[in-house]
Amino acid sequence: MKAIRRFSVRPVLPAPIAALGELAMNLRWSWHPPLRDLFASIDAARWDAVGHDPVAMLSAVSPEELERLAADPAFVDAVSRAKEALDRYLGEDRWYQQWGREEADGVPSAIAYFSAEFGITAALPQYSGGLGILAGDHLKAASDIGVPIIGVGLFYKTGYFRQSLNRDGWQQEDYPVLDPDGLAMSLVREEDGTPGLVTIALPGARQLHAHVWRVQVGRVPLLLLDTDVRENDDAGRSVTERLYGGGGELRLQQEMLLGMGGVRALRLWSRVSGTPTPDVYHANEGHAGFLGIERISELVRAEGMTFDAALEAVRSATVFTTHTPVPAGIDRFDASLIELYFGGAQALEGVPVERLLALGAETYEGGSSGMFNMAVMGLRLAQRANGVSQLHGVVSREMFDGLWPGFDDDEVPITSITNGVHGPTWVDRTVFELARTHADVHQLDTQESWESFATVPRDAVWAAKRAMRSQLVAEARRRTRQSWLERGASPAELAWTDKVLDPDVLTIGFARRVPTYKRLTLMLRDPDRLRKLLLDPDRPVQLVIAGKAHPADETGKQLIQQLVRFADDPEVRRRIVFLPNYDIAMALHLYPGCDVWLNNPLRPFEACGTSGMKAALNGALNLSILDGWWDEWFDGKNGWAIPTADGVEDPERRDDIEANALYDLVESQVAPRFYDVDEQGLPQNWLSMMMHTVTTLGPKVRASRMVRDYTQQLYVPAARSGWAKADGGYAGARDLAQYKARARAAWGDVHVDHVESSGVGDTPELGETLHVTTYVSLGDLTPDDVEVQVVHGRTNHHGDELHDVASVPLAHVEAYEHGRHQFAGDLVLRSSGAFGYTVRVLPRHDGLARPSELGLVANA
Ligand SMILES: *Cc1c(COP(=O)(O)O)cnc(C)c1O
Repeated sequence: MKAIRRFSVRPVLPAPIAALGELAMNLRWSWHPPLRDLFASIDAARWDAVGHDPVAMLSAVSPEELERLAADPAFVDAVSRAKEALDRYLGEDRWYQQWGREEADGVPSAIAYFSAEFGITAALPQYSGGLGILAGDHLKAASDIGVPIIGVGLFYKTGYFRQSLNRDGWQQEDYPVLDPDGLAMSLVREEDGTPGLVTIALPGARQLHAHVWRVQVGRVPLLLLDTDVRENDDAGRSVTERLYGGGGELRLQQEMLLGMGGVRALRLWSRVSGTPTPDVYHANEGHAGFLGIERISELVRAEGMTFDAALEAVRSATVFTTHTPVPAGIDRFDASLIELYFGGAQALEGVPVERLLALGAETYEGGSSGMFNMAVMGLRLAQRANGVSQLHGVVSREMFDGLWPGFDDDEVPITSITNGVHGPTWVDRTVFELARTHADVHQLDTQESWESFATVPRDAVWAAKRAMRSQLVAEARRRTRQSWLERGASPAELAWTDKVLDPDVLTIGFARRVPTYKRLTLMLRDPDRLRKLLLDPDRPVQLVIAGKAHPADETGKQLIQQLVRFADDPEVRRRIVFLPNYDIAMALHLYPGCDVWLNNPLRPFEACGTSGMKAALNGALNLSILDGWWDEWFDGKNGWAIPTADGVEDPERRDDIEANALYDLVESQVAPRFYDVDEQGLPQNWLSMMMHTVTTLGPKVRASRMVRDYTQQLYVPAARSGWAKADGGYAGARDLAQYKARARAAWGDVHVDHVESSGVGDTPELGETLHVTTYVSLGDLTPDDVEVQVVHGRTNHHGDELHDVASVPLAHVEAYEHGRHQFAGDLVLRSSGAFGYTVRVLPRHDGLARPSELGLVANA
């Protein structure tokens, strides 16, 4: 093979329309239709041919055409108005700036957001599924509300993969190579114009170098590291070739690059752009965990801090989000691999490999001693952590409770912020049009704007839904035909694809990645029953299905094949389609076109799920297992809950029960309601559910709500903790590290020795006061080093568990010899029923976010 080096030549734009360049390079167009219209207005056919990608569009226009456009006053005017609008969007104060001014204690001036994948637009395919789309939506919403985030990720030359099917319905993967010069990205350069280079050390005296691309997502810069550079050997160049492409060692190299290289890329960026360095670091899932190690090393080198003090400084300003409720979903490495990459001559200055290994060690029941766990490290390196729905918060606290032994799951320091989706990206234009025409609402960004849908006439709503369903039908036909051509069919055999699906039939969508727990084939549990639903003469149902299996996941590919084989049957193929290559471009047709969005994961393995939110914003009703977000926001009127067979151990039986419940619901409730129309042809009861869904879920499921929650609940507190630790030459961090060392060393001698109470009789009444006195041993700790609490709550009939717990601190009364102390206080009985209490001793220090943080407790 010849070593051909290829590159794209960017067009030279004539001065009057030069702003088109910036308009194409800022991905704001991906959620701002007027900008897309501007590019489409150059030539609609070519706009379709380039896949609605402005950068590709500009390359496709000849210099002569550009000159003609530059001489067209109407077009020149449209360009300058678009540029003015973009500049206003980029420069004006938004929610964060207004809110931040009221915050006397200050707000962060930059927040780094690390993620292994980012799904922003189909034109930049750097995602595999929900995690990436969420990260993309996070950046877009941050831009819209002015939160100063800087994204950090990797640039994968072949993205994830393109999915197609072979004749047998088996998934095929292609890896089309992306040309960075043809994408909306620009190289981060040093002041002298040379490309900035980030380097990390690999074993065997190898170095891994990367360039840094900047993608501009509205106001938010996204930095992507790319190892396909001349300075690397062949192996190094391919480190960022594919997303989730390699196992073990390659994955470790990618994650080192993301975490450590990502911090170095941020330093490069702030140096050359003159922008502030981040006050807060957010690791979106465990992949980026090494960012904490890099920052510890920075502090040890620059500030002469100990590892422990640096750890405290780093932890305070770090946020970790976990996204998986399945231990198998977590990245783990052999401890020996970590030793190879971080031990001996490889050790990062200030980070002894034993300390690193301890951060990722699975030191809990069921953990394995030879493994290094990225999520565990993420939790140990972040003072604040969260799951992504309320239920996932509960599941995460249980899953990781081994890291905080002695505490009830409720007190495990992992909170939750429920995911959201970016409205301007995911709400179809038809829906915006409805709001504009009938409710005079121009932006769907407030509670009131969504509630205004209640005033839109129902015939207009139904006509809009039919229009969106028809668009999906047309798209599904096109894709089905394309897929059959790729499967080897000849055009002459494919006339039937023009009759696939019907714009007036109840349309159920199901699209997602295909890990086993999502149960792609649950609907096939009873094929005859499914066939009957599809072919019902009066109330037929049609199914649009899509999803990619990970290339190494043979089981997932088998599931896809089963489904494709069912859908290939000429008897049903006009009512059920599997569309290959689920991605953002397809999703933008799917959600608006569906009447019902189906989700049937194995509860509780869906951490949140976001596709159902996107469908809901477009007036689809959810039909879902009560998992993830649906467990939280299903209200009985916005869709249907598929009952779960919780507690049934046999998975086959459980699937049978849940599949039957699904068929029952479709037969007895969903289809009858959809087809129950009045004399004007309007399904009034269905429309009531649609209107209710849009008006009540609209405000909640938005990514701007999510980013605001992250900002107020996690970023700002983390920034303030970080500043408190950094003040006075990091005195706060050093002090906290010393305190922790002291508390850990002394804790073996901390006991509750004796508890006494008085003030109430055998049958106390509400409002009476219980006086509690306790004698504790504190070893070498002082009374100020600890909090002694009465913990109280409802108790079960065994009296061995407390629920709805609350605590009351007790005051120090007297010190005795040998580290013994008396504490006492009052507790007012405020709820009736079975009541229980106990006493415990916890660490206390201003630098702790929560007393459970150290995992130390002495219970009575
Ligand atoms: C929203 C979205 C997902 C995630 O959907 P889940 O419901 O979380 O599984 C995956 N892929 C694409 C293309 C999406 O748009």
